[in-house]
Amino acid sequence: MKIVSNQSLDKKISDLYDKYSIDTEEERHKAENFMNAITDLIELCGDDSSRQGFDDTPYRVLKAHLEYTAGYREDPKEHLRKFFDVDHDELIVVKDIEFNSLCEHHFAPFFGVAHVGYIPNGKITGLSKIGRMIDGYAERFQVQERLTNQIADAMQEILDPKGVMVVVEGKHMCMCGRGVKKRDSSTTTSASRGIFKKDIAQRQEFLSLIEK
Ligand SMILES: [Zn+2]
Repeated sequence: MKIVSNQSLDKKISDLYDKYSIDTEEERHKAENFMNAITDLIELCGDDSSRQGFDDTPYRVLKAHLEYTAGYREDPKEHLRKFFDVDHDELIVVKDIEFNSLCEHHFAPFFGVAHVGYIPNGKITGLSKIGRMIDGYAERFQVQERLTNQIADAMQEILDPKGVMVVVEGKHMCMCGRGVKKRDSSTTTSASRGIFKKDIAQRQEFLSLIEK
């Protein structure tokens, strides 16, 4: 096991610990165990973990996962608290908001776009705020269905609109979700709150606006 193979790697690991506040003995122990496990995984898969290409791989895998899951270190709803009071009660649609996430079953990436439609009740928020809120939920260990519901719930809770509808289209790099996936297949999930639950015409208007 040669996790700490050189000084520059030592430095990188210690910088990573600082950046992510991995500061208790227990947390550092977990981080080291994780990096050791990556070395073991390389060997279980049949490769030689001591070859040069793998020198910093355990560190990089740890770092990558801390970055992919940055959403745990914030409350995504907070982004929506920057709203404006506006007298507008027609449907607002924000479409094709890109996201990147990690499937909680395989730690494999899934990514795609989210579309959000809402009918405000006095409060609207900016496009970038909705995008940041979505990132905050996507950057976790996720399943697409939960991500979709969390986006709808955050909109509903903070903006208190007359209704909100969310459609998420995701491509999964694993075979989780709904059976074996072909290369180009995508999974679509939706969630509706408020008026969209009952009003079919409103749902149709939203769906027609997000059609390609
Ligand atoms: Zn999966």
